[in-house]
Amino acid sequence: MKKNLHVISRVLPGSIGEELELEPGDILVSINGQPVEDVFDYRYLMNDELVELLIRKRNGEEWELEVEKDYEEDLGVEFENSLMDDYRSCSNHCIFCFIDQMPPGMRETLYFKDDDSRLSFLQGNYVTLTNMSDYDLERIIKFHLSPINVSFQAMNPELRCKMLHNRFAGDALKKVDRLYEGGVTMNGQIVLCKGVNDREELEYSLEKLSAYAPVLQSVSIVPVGLSKFRDGLYPLESFTKEDAEHLIEQVEHWQKIMMEKHGIHFVHASDEWYILAGRNMPEEGRYDGYLQLENGVGMMRLLETEVKERLSQLEGDDRKIQASVATGKLAAPFIKKMTELVQEKFPNISVSVYTIKNEFFGEKITVSGLITGQDLKTQLKDRQLGEKVLIPCNMLRSGEDVFLDDLTVEMISEALGTEIVVVDEPGADLVDCLINPPDHKKIRRRQIYEQTSSSNSGEA
Ligand code: SF4
Repeated sequence: MKKNLHVISRVLPGSIGEELELEPGDILVSINGQPVEDVFDYRYLMNDELVELLIRKRNGEEWELEVEKDYEEDLGVEFENSLMDDYRSCSNHCIFCFIDQMPPGMRETLYFKDDDSRLSFLQGNYVTLTNMSDYDLERIIKFHLSPINVSFQAMNPELRCKMLHNRFAGDALKKVDRLYEGGVTMNGQIVLCKGVNDREELEYSLEKLSAYAPVLQSVSIVPVGLSKFRDGLYPLESFTKEDAEHLIEQVEHWQKIMMEKHGIHFVHASDEWYILAGRNMPEEGRYDGYLQLENGVGMMRLLETEVKERLSQLEGDDRKIQASVATGKLAAPFIKKMTELVQEKFPNISVSVYTIKNEFFGEKITVSGLITGQDLKTQLKDRQLGEKVLIPCNMLRSGEDVFLDDLTVEMISEALGTEIVVVDEPGADLVDCLINPPDHKKIRRRQIYEQTSSSNSGEA
């Protein structure tokens, strides 16, 4: 077994780690005499009421510590590499891969193609199962690690091989049977490509996938994202309004079947489909508790609920504020509606909502999460911005105030001559950021396709 160095980077206040006088820079050598291979091992070995830790302090001393704790209680420490192992890259060449559609010259971590079941468990990444070993599969089942998020794309094995450009992709579906039999909760995703895995192929996939419910608790259907950098790649087209209407009917048909059978809606169309079809978002009860927000499923419905809830807690008044909001084409009309709700209670707040066209990746990319600092800067220049510009936190890199193109919030703020306020995800934050002065808080959000900078684990 490869030995990784698990260097502690942070000890949380009030934690067992603090009580044990652990410090950043200390190394976890073993738990109960066993070396820790990765985060799966760590979680498993820590799940006990009595554990023995071997810690190597920075001065080279080795401490043997006996810890009595609640069964699932954690040490309360963070490691330099949260995966506790090297990241595994994918072995596919998917015809829809967004990383292949990025221009050259962006920061290196953005080009990393991960396909790691440990990341699925840790931070919700979707995995194709093509490089999940039997050993991993056994550990997931044995350690009861769930949910595991699976990128299905198609249940027709041949089509899956074609879409993932991997001759083992069809066979990899057999691992779903093992996870299902092992009772491992799963969520699924289908990236829909027009004329490839939609319509009849989707019908076939949903029929097959429905057999795994309710262990497979949800399947989202998201439309493929197409940037302008597709030269030499598989020809793919955008979906039309009529396609979106068809897709929604197909999804709603399956929702009815699954509600009757299992009491869950199971399959969900992402918000983009409803916007493209010009339909209202489904009511809250149809999202089964918002299991796939990261895939843009129910984000708008939840935002509206939260905005209304926050507004119901506030007394309106006549405060005067001039502000603007910048967002992508997809969400702009909806955000406008939300700002109008705020204005009903605060009539002297004037808000301009600016739709930022994605010049960087191309106009077919309409989500706010892929808007660059450069596009914001160019398109908001010389506009009436008021005293602050609100932007959603998903425009920024995880844990930093940095856009995809490495421009910073501060740079954009200076260039535009106004305050940039980063709005966190809950709808309450949109309301608060509009009606209150900026509190200069830093927002942390993960970008699921980007490798973190601390991913290189030292090898002993
Ligand atoms: S879409 Fe995901 S699995 Fe497919 S090639 Fe890209 S990174 Fe790999």
